[in-house]
Amino acid sequence: MPIFEFHCHDCGNDFEKLVFGSDPEVECPECKKHNCGKLMSACNAKVGTKLTASSAGGGASCTGCAATSCSTCH
Ligand SMILES: [Zn+2]
Repeated sequence: MPIFEFHCHDCGNDFEKLVFGSDPEVECPECKKHNCGKLMSACNAKVGTKLTASSAGGGASCTGCAATSCSTCH
């Protein structure tokens, strides 16, 4: 199951969320709004791995894509 990292543009909250499907309606757990976008660091997300502030700041994408997600990111 892919776990992506999201950033809320409204309150600036960063959070991880399991995503099912290609176009999920992501709700910010803090402000309950849907103004959220995937972070590039989603490529580093792995199932069972907790992202820390340091890993989230890496900014490196996987070798397979330069976008927010791809089939090889997870
Ligand atoms: Zn928010």
